Amino acid sequence: MSSQVYDCIVIGAGIQGSCTAYYHAKNNKKTLLLEQFILPHSRGSSHGQTRIIRKAYPQDFYVRMMEDSYKLWAELEKEAGVKLYRRTGLLVMGAENGQQYPRVKDVLLRNRVPTVVLKREEFSQHVPNFNLSSGDGALVDTTAGVLYADKALASIQRLFQSLGGVIKDGQKVTGITPGAVATVTTVSGAYQARSLVITAGPWANTLLSLTGLGLPLQVVKINVCYWQEKVPGSYDVQKRFPCFIQLESQEADQHIYGLPSNEYPGLMKVCYHIGKETDPDERDRQTDQSDIAILQRFIARCMPGLVPVPAVVESCMYTLTPDSDFVLDHHPTYRNIVIGAGFSGHGFKFGPVIGKILYELSTGQLPSHDVSPFKISRFQTPAKSAL
Ligand SMILES: Cc1cc2nc3c(=O)[nH]c(=O)nc-3n(C[C@H](O)[C@H](O)[C@H](O)COP(=O)(O)OP(=O)(O)OC[C@H]3O[C@@H](n4cnc5c(N)ncnc54)[C@H](O)[C@@H]3O)c2cc1C
Repeated sequence: MSSQVYDCIVIGAGIQGSCTAYYHAKNNKKTLLLEQFILPHSRGSSHGQTRIIRKAYPQDFYVRMMEDSYKLWAELEKEAGVKLYRRTGLLVMGAENGQQYPRVKDVLLRNRVPTVVLKREEFSQHVPNFNLSSGDGALVDTTAGVLYADKALASIQRLFQSLGGVIKDGQKVTGITPGAVATVTTVSGAYQARSLVITAGPWANTLLSLTGLGLPLQVVKINVCYWQEKVPGSYDVQKRFPCFIQLESQEADQHIYGLPSNEYPGLMKVCYHIGKETDPDERDRQTDQSDIAILQRFIARCMPGLVPVPAVVESCMYTLTPDSDFVLDHHPTYRNIVIGAGFSGHGFKFGPVIGKILYELSTGQLPSHDVSPFKISRFQTPAKSAL
């Protein structure tokens, strides 16, 4: 066992664990970040080149957290000297008389987020090569855009190390002994710390079971689909094509989202916001493609400039909570163990603000945002008895 006692050990070096470790190190805490795979890797939820960043949410608390997150991303960009964000705007479409679109619109306007509501007759002038469904409204969250995910993750890990933080990768955690000084055992060593933060993404419940806790989390595989432009450049980021979210549609209950062609020239990323359950250790044994069939129908109807057969399909995973809100909380039995989990396919954009909140929780400070929507106690299922 290493003789050093860290202030904090963070388990899991995805975006949430890396941001949490960074805020600890920035505040002079001796911090160890443990990762089961050799970095970088594509086995969790934070890999890939791009993610959407937006304030368009149906809940005010996410808008307020995003106000902070945008500032923190800008600070990280400056500190790292790497461009991590590209403003494209986010087109939001959904039934004018539906459940979701009017709520997103109200929340954006109430929070004075710079928003342009598009009239149906001017839609195609602003958004070429896209058919707005009948009965749908459309608006643009103008500050939204693309985050360069892989670059962001690598930059934050580098900043963490430059602040004295230690990353040990290829170190799968296999045991946790809680206590005022907790011991974490990995495949090749044992480490001690006064506090632990568990940010294990799709493996959250595997890790939490080592502490006697189980959360109602479901891991699903997402087919990340890229679609070829029939005319090169039609949906290109250089031509200021926006990101988009289609809320409920005739093809699907869940939303469909897209990012302009950018990381793979000539290919636009369009995905369905749900997938089928999988085991994170055997992700690609899940081969269901019903989401791709939904996307094909949507693309054929609404995006006539794309070939309606995916050119490239990659894999990623979501870890869903029953209400799609995150888990940011202390362990119910061990206060010096803090949990960040269940990011439900929309957590990347919040990385820095989540890192800051988990740092605040693990150092006993009042969190800078209301964390009541993220408490473990909201789940009906009682936590399994502690060890
Ligand atoms: C296809 C797709 C599109 C998405 N689009 C968006 C978007 O547009 N905008 C947005 O905001 N969000 C988006 N998300 C969601 C976002 O990417 C995730 O919410 C976020 O990456 C979750 O990060 P994490 O750190 O919780 O998990 P992960 O990135 O999975 O990190 C957890 C880490 O813990 C490690 N670990 C697990 N068990 C152990 C162990 N025993 N020992 C050591 N290490 C361990 C894992 O190996 C992993 O590296 C998307 C996700 C996907 C899959």
